[in-house]
Amino acid sequence: MVLSEEKIRSYIRRLLLSRMRILCTNGFYGLLIMHMKFTLDEGCETAATDGDRIYFNPQFLEKLSDDELDFVLMHEILHAALQHCSRTGDRDSERFNIACDIVVNSNILKSCDMEESRISLKEYGVSMHIAPNGKEGWEYTVEQVYEMLGKAALSGNVPGSSSNGNAKPASGKKNRKAEDPKIKPGMIIQDGRAKKGMRFFRMFG
Ligand SMILES: [Zn+2]
Repeated sequence: MVLSEEKIRSYIRRLLLSRMRILCTNGFYGLLIMHMKFTLDEGCETAATDGDRIYFNPQFLEKLSDDELDFVLMHEILHAALQHCSRTGDRDSERFNIACDIVVNSNILKSCDMEESRISLKEYGVSMHIAPNGKEGWEYTVEQVYEMLGKAALSGNVPGSSSNGNAKPASGKKNRKAEDPKIKPGMIIQDGRAKKGMRFFRMFG
């Protein structure tokens, strides 16, 4: 789909306004975002970062409210600041992505003293922020959460976020996406479309 100049200008305007809002309300994140470039990319399913740029699918961007957009931008910039794109190593990229999201979302909640509703997207629910042991992700490094996720998968328990802060038991790794109603189809980014080193914004219920 070819985007009109007018549409592109409106998307850029939204991103710059979001950056200004974050700068005014959460200066730490705002200053970091000032160093990032933005790219509209229809090949990206939602939003993503490679540590240098933040990529947005235009249709995804359009559906976000201002509050949701602010959260997504803070989410991406924290991935970049914590250098998540270069820490995967030989690990399973999908599991590592989940670990990164748990740590990022939990840190946003804590550092901005936010309500859980602020890391929720109307289309996807609350973003994951609880480690498999039921504790907040900010207490751990992504590598530690990754290890916990591996053990949880082996024991048949995978985490989900919840308003009461408990990790929810779900089905084992087999058909997890299909069986867990909290994880809706389409919410998991197609890894095949990911550029190397790109970390996606993932959305789980
Ligand atoms: Zn993410």
